[in-house]
Amino acid sequence: VSSTASTSTLAATGGAAAKASSKEEPIKACFVSLVRNEDLWKLADTIKNVQDRFNDKFNYPWVFLNNEVFTEEFKHVIGGIVSGPAKFEVIPPAYWSYPDWIDQEKAAQTRIAMKDIIYGDSESYRHMCRFESGFFWRHEALDEFDWYWRVEPETKLHCDIDYDVFKWMRDNDKKYGFTISIYEYEATIKTLWSTTQEFLKLHPEHVAEDNMMDFISKDNGKKYNLCHFWSNFEVASLDLWRSKAYRDYFDYLDQAGGFFYERWGDAPVHSIAAALFLPRDQIHYFPDIGYYHPPYNNCPLDQDIFDKGKCTCNQDADFTFQGYSCTSRFFEVNKMKKPQGWEKFKG
Ligand code: GDP
Ligand code: MN
Repeated sequence: VSSTASTSTLAATGGAAAKASSKEEPIKACFVSLVRNEDLWKLADTIKNVQDRFNDKFNYPWVFLNNEVFTEEFKHVIGGIVSGPAKFEVIPPAYWSYPDWIDQEKAAQTRIAMKDIIYGDSESYRHMCRFESGFFWRHEALDEFDWYWRVEPETKLHCDIDYDVFKWMRDNDKKYGFTISIYEYEATIKTLWSTTQEFLKLHPEHVAEDNMMDFISKDNGKKYNLCHFWSNFEVASLDLWRSKAYRDYFDYLDQAGGFFYERWGDAPVHSIAAALFLPRDQIHYFPDIGYYHPPYNNCPLDQDIFDKGKCTCNQDADFTFQGYSCTSRFFEVNKMKKPQGWEKFKG
């Protein structure tokens, strides 16, 4: 374990280092799903699948967040599927609204100008991305937890997971885990990188010594290469977002207004922060968590992993080493050995 300046920054705010050393302590972890009432049936299938593949063995609690009140039907159906406690929570309006410095007329013009870009015309999508970037981890329903696993409707786990993923993260000193990475649409984040560069000039102290800049940039930070971890799946430490580094970063981005004047996604925001504020060995790719979010799969190519997990995905449809994925790059910059058969996805 390296003891860089940034590790101590993170540890100081959340006491993560102290917790990581006490391996016998119970893990304070939960699933978290931001969903609408109309997501009920798609979410129900996903949750049943997560229960069957993992959580029936571990019974971690589940936190459901919504900008509206959950219906009785939603609570009844979902509450009947989960094996641990469930909380159904409303998001405080301050976490899902315009800050007073945002020019709402300018924001509306942006939505018209971006109508041909995916979700470019959507106001709610922008609130969603801002919430997932800056606020879900501040919701009081999460105060009691140190770790979370994000789950979205329409996603699927392809394989059995018979170990405690949260405990594994803690015991191996990981802070951020992903399954799929991909390039962002440049049109949605035109000034995200220049804004990040301004922030880094003001706060060089937040950058970890052995960071993963080489995953997100080909030229040591002059340009962003658009690579990001797909945040619809995340297993991560809440202390990462609760840290001074990340709070300062989010506040700076929020002031700049790009969540509304562009369409900054929580995925590039989380990914840039994880890549720069964490030492590289605290970011983990899960080769064994078979996962689907439309339209991409993480399907284990390693035959032992596939067989052991009773996976039900088609390995030929694995996205990991395809051209539009960034995970090849992740393997390369971290000097990891790619699984047998990865070459057939090249080019
Ligand atoms: P995509 O994965 O980028 O296509 O976006 P999704 O439509 O899957 O939205 C991301 C997550 O936010 C999912 O868990 C959605 O259920 C949730 N979500 C999106 N918009 C809203 C919204 O307006 N209200 C609530 N409560 N959840 C939302
Ligand atoms: Mn989604």
